[in-house]
Amino acid sequence: MTLDVRTIVLFATLMGLVLAAALYLISKGLPESVRGARAWSVGYAFQAGGALLVGLRSVYPDIVLIPLGNTLLVAGHIVQYVAIKEFLDSPYRRWPLWLLGVTVLAVSAYFTYPADDFYVRSATTALATIVVLVAGGRALYREADPRLTGARYTALLLLGLAAILAVRGVYTVFLGPPANTLFSGDVVQFVYVSAYVILGVMSGLAFVLLIAERLRLELERMATLDALTGIYNRRTFTDLAERELARAKRAGAPVGLVLIDLDHFKAVNDRHGHVAGDAVLRAFVATAGAALRKQDLLGRYGGEEFCVVLPGVSAAEAVMIAQRLRELVEQGPAQTGDREIRYTISAGVAHSEKAGLDLDALVRDADAALYRAKDLGRNQVSLAAAGGASA
Ligand code: GH3
Ligand code: MG
Ligand code: MG
Repeated sequence: MTLDVRTIVLFATLMGLVLAAALYLISKGLPESVRGARAWSVGYAFQAGGALLVGLRSVYPDIVLIPLGNTLLVAGHIVQYVAIKEFLDSPYRRWPLWLLGVTVLAVSAYFTYPADDFYVRSATTALATIVVLVAGGRALYREADPRLTGARYTALLLLGLAAILAVRGVYTVFLGPPANTLFSGDVVQFVYVSAYVILGVMSGLAFVLLIAERLRLELERMATLDALTGIYNRRTFTDLAERELARAKRAGAPVGLVLIDLDHFKAVNDRHGHVAGDAVLRAFVATAGAALRKQDLLGRYGGEEFCVVLPGVSAAEAVMIAQRLRELVEQGPAQTGDREIRYTISAGVAHSEKAGLDLDALVRDADAALYRAKDLGRNQVSLAAAGGASA
């Protein structure tokens, strides 16, 4: 059997173009927040161009084709490194990447003509490629959200690619037969080119998987959290509250529930504008987060209404926690731009002692207590009591 490296290289060109087109189409359908697919696609296009030039070179020796082909191959990896940094939303410097590309071009050109030296050319190309592959793999390992399992997989493939380049470089220069070029028919060069192409394809597929994973996380976040404040939305809050109540039932533990409404919030919007109103809502969430315990559950119930589940507290403790939050809000106005906006809250407190461990009953009690707090003049806490109102 003849091992024809040139056929593989030309086949890799086609594969590179197909993958470039696929990634480009994928990038078109992604939201702005998920970046990197387009750059990876450009990287594949560069590599396809590089492979074509390198493949043609064995047919048409050309002092232009060799340096350009080598540089395009490295440039493809550089752009895929950029894709990784874009995907990670992580800053990177451009000049070292340009420097690397220009160095490869200059060294490849010089060692094609006047000083024709395959070893220096391919060692430089390989070293430059290894540098960007390791940098990309390292970034994925260290900087990716740990929930993205595809990041490690992609990183491993890139490091595998770097290892293959290193092994082949050492073999070519020190261990292989003399005059051992890519197209010398040596079986190791054949295995190298095949492995390089296969890992190149696999790393791109792994990157697509990574993008899909990221999309799933984003959708999950959008479905469970409130976009403005970042706390649980009503649906998630309700689910988690039900779960907490079931746990309390099994443990025979009490639960408090507080419904909070910002006072005269329409007036805050009217006076300062909706953007400032939004800032007040975020400021309230920050204050509440600081006042509550780790096990307490906070959710945005409606526009300017929030709900808190307090596991394991007595009715008196629940009132105390609500009072403390009310005081913190009163003392700590919201900062928006250069303005300070003072605002207050009213809260209705319900407790499982009276309402039982049923979410609807607790919310109903808390709602009634909240109305009473509003009626009594706002900026106060009211407890739903068996006998009626109490403050
Ligand atoms: P009360 O003390 O009786 O609660 O008076 P209020 O003005 O707070 O009550 P009302 O229910 O009449 O008004 C609530 C306001 O909250 C109206 C709505 O425009 C505003 N609001 C709801 N959601 C948002 C939001 O996401 N951002 C902003 N800026 N305002 C919001
Ligand atoms: Mg309201
Ligand atoms: Mg209100």
